[in-house]
Amino acid sequence: MKKQTHHKIFSEFARILARHSIAVSDSVLTAIEFFFSEDHHVSTEDVEHFARENNLGISKAEINKAFELLEKFGFATKRVFADGVQRYEHFHIGEHHDHLYCLKCGRIIEFYSSGLEEEQGDVAREHNFHAFSHKMQINGLCSQCFGEPSQEIPLSEVQAGGTFCITRIATRSGRFGGHGFSRRLNDLGLVPGAEGQVINNGRGMVIINCGSARIALRRGQSRKIMVALTN
Ligand SMILES: [Zn+2]
Ligand SMILES: [Zn+2]
Ligand SMILES: [Zn+2]
Repeated sequence: MKKQTHHKIFSEFARILARHSIAVSDSVLTAIEFFFSEDHHVSTEDVEHFARENNLGISKAEINKAFELLEKFGFATKRVFADGVQRYEHFHIGEHHDHLYCLKCGRIIEFYSSGLEEEQGDVAREHNFHAFSHKMQINGLCSQCFGEPSQEIPLSEVQAGGTFCITRIATRSGRFGGHGFSRRLNDLGLVPGAEGQVINNGRGMVIINCGSARIALRRGQSRKIMVALTN
């Protein structure tokens, strides 16, 4: 956000807090200022990272408090994309946009299409439905990621929703007992050529769907399964 706009909005926010006699710590204010200084989609992890880099000692609770207030007073909107991470974006009164989300690199592209907006209104009217808002998100691959669709990456890097084909298992005997790990994958049908989809890619686990069965893999294991993204 432009520096001037960012200051203007921050003081508007501070005025609202004062009017409602809401006292917040300096840490919460710093987290709020960080959000206003960023242009696009900010996650709580982004604020944590910023706080860590600058030795600011802002706690998770304070970050959550900051976003809670931003949302409550209509300065931020929560968005959840296919990776399941909660991100917040600026809420500008009277402005609207929709999103393209890259399943491979997590890139978020904002767009506005007047045609799509009108069509959505028409659909609602056809159903005698009074629409107040909508969220439109298109999942896929950005031009950079689509440029190398057959590139090999570890399964751990595939975002939720991404479809893949296993290219090889990168075992080095050791941590997973080498052959034992390959055999286990073999039993699960996770062999080169097998196709699947990532259902959830969280911190500790990667959940995939392969041959219509859900399989939970530890992160470390998913790093050893090399895949190519499919469409
Ligand atoms: Zn829209
Ligand atoms: Zn991408
Ligand atoms: Zn956005």
